[in-house]
Amino acid sequence: MKKIVIVKCNMISNQNLCPGDAKCFIALMRKEGEFEKYKNEDVYIIGIMDCGGCEGNANRVVCSLALLKIQLAALKENPDVVHVGTCIMKFCKRKDDLIAAIKEKAGVEVVEGTHPYAPPTIFGS
Ligand code: SF4
Repeated sequence: MKKIVIVKCNMISNQNLCPGDAKCFIALMRKEGEFEKYKNEDVYIIGIMDCGGCEGNANRVVCSLALLKIQLAALKENPDVVHVGTCIMKFCKRKDDLIAAIKEKAGVEVVEGTHPYAPPTIFGS
């Protein structure tokens, strides 16, 4: 069994451009996109948190993960994997900093991406 935490884009989330986080939930249910690797496993999302926003630095996401860890520990849970949302992978100019910070501090596997349903870019490839 795998327990997953997802990190998503604060801006996309706050502007309700990904209502209900539905794409990640559906992709996990169907085991599509970066969740395909769990095809033969039970897998659960145990937390979704955002990056902390464009202001400031990547330390925010580390602080948010630390707070989530405390909350999950109180519930006697711990994630096995952190997935960096497709919203961040496709649209964030700071994704390299965010991913580096998450990888440095997560202490568990970090997977780049979640669902495969992002639209193609409008300008360019
Ligand atoms: S830093 Fe990146 S992931 Fe976070 S809100 Fe800004 S664009 Fe979104």
